[in-house]
Amino acid sequence: TMSAPVEQQNATGQVENLCIVGSGPAGYSAAVYAARAQLKPVCFEGFQNGKGGQLMGTTEVENYPGFPEGVTGPELMDRMRAQAERWGTELYTEDVEHLDLSQRPFVIRSSEREVRAHSVIIATGATAKRLGIPSENTYWSKGISACAICDGASPLFKNKPVAVVGGGDSAAEEAVYLTKYTPEVHLLVRGDKLRASKTMQDRALNSPKITVHFNTSVEDAVGNGVLTGLNLVNNKTGEKGHLGVAGLFYGIGHQPNNKLIQGQVELDEKGYVKVRHGVSTNIEGVFAAGDLHDPEWRQAVTAAGSGCMAALSAERYLTANN
Ligand code: FAD
Repeated sequence: TMSAPVEQQNATGQVENLCIVGSGPAGYSAAVYAARAQLKPVCFEGFQNGKGGQLMGTTEVENYPGFPEGVTGPELMDRMRAQAERWGTELYTEDVEHLDLSQRPFVIRSSEREVRAHSVIIATGATAKRLGIPSENTYWSKGISACAICDGASPLFKNKPVAVVGGGDSAAEEAVYLTKYTPEVHLLVRGDKLRASKTMQDRALNSPKITVHFNTSVEDAVGNGVLTGLNLVNNKTGEKGHLGVAGLFYGIGHQPNNKLIQGQVELDEKGYVKVRHGVSTNIEGVFAAGDLHDPEWRQAVTAAGSGCMAALSAERYLTANN
């Protein structure tokens, strides 16, 4: 049956070379490299958040090299998946529910099976935080975006007023970045000051193209199929206002998906995996790839690059230890 006891399924005592957790650009790229290196990797793609990772929730990806006309996020991920499969990756569309890195071989368990493996690549990504305003889903990708670098150049926003919400480095950086495409950027800050680093603050505050609105929260987005404006409220005075914009960019941070490894793998104060030598964790044979260890670049191409590094590092580790 589907729910045979774990002991029974594992009766052969088989130990895999490498188990990959995650199916974003990092996980699939690791799978392609590991499979081509004859490691016969197994990959848990995830189920609840869907396989394919963050790009499954976007339309055009215009900055992934090799697609001069752009490619949709889902198509790009389908192609990566097919490439991983073609070279012999065993794919399980299941969530890993438990990961035990304290024993060797490492133990990885989903609701369907238990896998034991000599090495593990964790590529569970990160989740962009959302505001949770009432019309968020209505205008998601139709004006609301979680990534200025990805979407700033879109004709939806070009030369039109846009807003960025957030007060930290990512928000300030997004606001400055967007001034390349439009002369009118509004930075909406909930508190009465910016939390960004001094340099980023100065760049945002000194830009003639950026207007900073302090003590300001977004109540909701409005529009007519696409976003046309925001209902705002002043947190100090309660005064309501409206701002006409074509874009609302979230710069309120990301949450690394680290639940499985908390208490096992060393994390930084924001919950990102601390890596040395690019992709190595504090546990020998355990590697981290993609957004899970990257609060800074967070792009598909950098995630794919670190997936490649993790697979090559795992291969070296396995060769040295067998
Ligand atoms: P993710 O893509 O986050 O994938 C993580 C994977 O881990 C998922 O498959 C998930 O199901 C799986 N997972 C999580 N927990 C478990 C578990 N317990 N068990 C098994 N699996 C699990 N970047 C660009 O370069 N260009 C763009 O145009 C672009 N547009 C974007 C648009 C949006 C709306 C967003 C949110 C991001 C965009 N990005 C873009 C950023 C890009 O998507 C990320 O940098 C990239 O996806 C990170 O890849 P990753 O493999 O590290 O993780």
